[in-house]
Amino acid sequence: MFGYEFYVDPSRCIGCQSCVSACAECGTHRGVSMIHLDFIDRPNTIATAPMVCMHCEDPTCAQVCPADAIKKGEDGIVRTALKPRCIGCSNCVLACPFGVPNVFAEMELMMKCDMCYDRTSIGKRPMCATVCPSQALMYVPAEQAAQKRRERASNEFHFGGQVVRTKVHYMLPASEPVMSVDVADAIWEGEE
Ligand code: SF4
Ligand code: SF4
Repeated sequence: MFGYEFYVDPSRCIGCQSCVSACAECGTHRGVSMIHLDFIDRPNTIATAPMVCMHCEDPTCAQVCPADAIKKGEDGIVRTALKPRCIGCSNCVLACPFGVPNVFAEMELMMKCDMCYDRTSIGKRPMCATVCPSQALMYVPAEQAAQKRRERASNEFHFGGQVVRTKVHYMLPASEPVMSVDVADAIWEGEE
């Protein structure tokens, strides 16, 4: 919107949690953060990566919602669930390939990152990108991202045979045009 795109660069994350705190300040879900800060390989490293909704072109969360509660706008932003429709079934939680949605049982409602729609729809930056000190979360024009970063911005992800394209871009090494995720390998935590 307004010529700006959202970029996530996990290699720059310093784990300061500023994004988590800023997200929780948002007036639309005050006190609850919609951004996840993931530990990459906790037994071996303190490396962290921020995870926001990737705003998929063909969102799986919306496809599996039996109540038709998740809508994508013409701007490409996949909104958080509509409160009058959501039944809190958690289908979206299970289906999202990026592990983004959260169901709040007491409210019977799924809430997720909506790219600070109340801000970005009027030309402001999302809360998290405003405070990130290392610019692991960036909301800038595409030309600026290309000029300032060595990495390649990608919005194509392969989960086995499933190809997912997203509005949000992920910064990858220039040699890797797309990110391929071996889901079975990623969840294996036992001995080799
Ligand atoms: S604010 Fe930026 S650096 Fe800090 S934890 Fe969030 S993404 Fe990482
Ligand atoms: S990342 Fe998950 S929650 Fe966000 S649009 Fe895609 S499927 Fe839906």
